[in-house]
Amino acid sequence: MASHTGRKGAATCQLYMRHFKDGSEITIEPWRAEAFPVIRDLVVDRSAFDRIMQAGGYITTHAGPKPDPNATPIEPEVAELALDAATCIGCGACVAACPNSAAMLYTAAKVSHLGLLPQGQPERYTRVIRMVEQMEKEGFGGCRNYAECEAACPKEISISFISQMNRDYLRASLLEPIDRRGSMKSQ
Ligand code: SF4
Repeated sequence: MASHTGRKGAATCQLYMRHFKDGSEITIEPWRAEAFPVIRDLVVDRSAFDRIMQAGGYITTHAGPKPDPNATPIEPEVAELALDAATCIGCGACVAACPNSAAMLYTAAKVSHLGLLPQGQPERYTRVIRMVEQMEKEGFGGCRNYAECEAACPKEISISFISQMNRDYLRASLLEPIDRRGSMKSQ
């Protein structure tokens, strides 16, 4: 993994042999996680990530004329944070690095980049419930705060997004009555 070479913010496919010391022993293996079955050689099936996205990674869109961008003001800090989360490329390095094969960083990035923006509010709480439930259904492990995911992430996604997701999940599951087939019964 890229972080093993001392390089941060780089995927394994962005490494060159010159990044390794002469005489280094390099072991290459597929991502190890039950939810990522090995297809062949170094190829794993990451469609579990796609199913998590399908469970809630979308927003309500209205057909019609393109809205005026200034009609929905977004604070620069919020936009910046949402863009940070949106840089997740779904590579799965976070899952492979985690001793529990947790997919919390991936799911939190996807939940947060939509949940932070005004456009993502209508499904904010149904989204987090559905995506977390799908994540658990796929067989990923639970988060134990090892933070190996953050260290391995080529996009340097912060584990603070996991806290953000946990807060939304708690609110959605304890405080708000949710119709799981649709959107919130009350806002
Ligand atoms: S959170 Fe980082 S390591 Fe995990 S899938 Fe996204 S980009 Fe890859």
